[in-house]
Amino acid sequence: MAVVEVNLGKDSYNIHIGAGILSELGQLMRQFAFTAKALVVSDENVGAIYGAVVVETLRQAGFSPRLVCVKPGETAKAYETAMTLYTAAIEEGLDRRSPIVALGGGVVGDLAGFVAATYLRGVPFIQVPTSLLAQVDSSVGGKVAINHPLGKNLIGAFYQPQLVVIDTAVLATLPRRELYAGLAEVIKYGLIADRDFFHYINEKSNAILAMDNNVLTAIISRSCRIKADIVEQDARESALRMVLNFGHTIAHAIEAGTGFAQFNHGEAVAIGMRGAALVSHYMGIAEPEVVENVCGTIRRFHLPLSVAGCSAAKLHSYLLHDKKVIGGKINWILLRSVGEVQVHSDVPEQIVSRVLAEIT
Ligand code: NAD
Ligand code: ZN
Repeated sequence: MAVVEVNLGKDSYNIHIGAGILSELGQLMRQFAFTAKALVVSDENVGAIYGAVVVETLRQAGFSPRLVCVKPGETAKAYETAMTLYTAAIEEGLDRRSPIVALGGGVVGDLAGFVAATYLRGVPFIQVPTSLLAQVDSSVGGKVAINHPLGKNLIGAFYQPQLVVIDTAVLATLPRRELYAGLAEVIKYGLIADRDFFHYINEKSNAILAMDNNVLTAIISRSCRIKADIVEQDARESALRMVLNFGHTIAHAIEAGTGFAQFNHGEAVAIGMRGAALVSHYMGIAEPEVVENVCGTIRRFHLPLSVAGCSAAKLHSYLLHDKKVIGGKINWILLRSVGEVQVHSDVPEQIVSRVLAEIT
């Protein structure tokens, strides 16, 4: 069991991490002055496996929970689904001190968090992330959102949970491809902030892939700590938080350029991290071994290194359309070495073209 404290003044909260702690959720929630009514939001996949355990632990702790399961997948992060959740909250009579619990991956976390942030101008929010990506990334940082038909995450807020409970044992039922996708973000944390952690991930790769709960607890808590350190200094996302975008500039172009179908987010990030490492090398900032280290690690965790079926030119045009590109300038998060990043907005077009040609 590990606890990561996220220090954000009056919005501070703890992340509890351990194998089997799902059944302690109700007990952990008793420390707050919540009213008994609670809305548990999940999706049909996760709700079918873990919904009953969560309802039971809440009941035992004196809550009267209502479980609502949305359709799995990104399309649930929509205004229409949010409306059905507001309806459930109103019907149940949830008041300002009634908690909304997100039980699921990043989709459920973002959606339930958005509803918690807006229902009655904000009710208590509890995150129980069940995908590795949600455990190490989307449940830390307080960004909640739904999509608009014209773009992802366009309607949202900064809204911190009061408690995050991460059960590593639930990863046993997560599809392997989703596990690898989450590992891409774990690798990212090592690369941007912690050389020793990066080596640890590589050393323990077999234990990670065999779902050793102690090692999973270690890598999840370290990842949450790294993200929390950055978020604590930059809660509203100005300059510093940008380093979390390492590998993401190219990743977003890959996701858009391949119609959001061929690669999941973590796979696109893996290719994007290789691209960013190559840019770092061609800029004369990183030694060739850094690129080799990045590629070796990506390969070890069954993640892709290149894009098939999307031309470099197409990727380049999507790259310039990224919402983080301001005035045609791309802010590149580059590696000096493993664990050390630098921001550059002066990467020449030729280097970008060369790298995009190499990864396609
Ligand atoms: P997801 O929520 O769609 O989950 C992936 C799939 O795994 C789903 O089919 C889900 O039902 C299933 N699943 C989840 N946990 C499971 C388990 N333990 N056992 C069996 N099946 C399980 O996708 P995701 O990758 O978790 O999250 C992606 C979303 O997160 C995107 O919408 C993205 O925008 C968002 N996100 C948000 C932030 C943020 O800071 N708020 C950061 C990164 C990503
Ligand atoms: Zn990401």
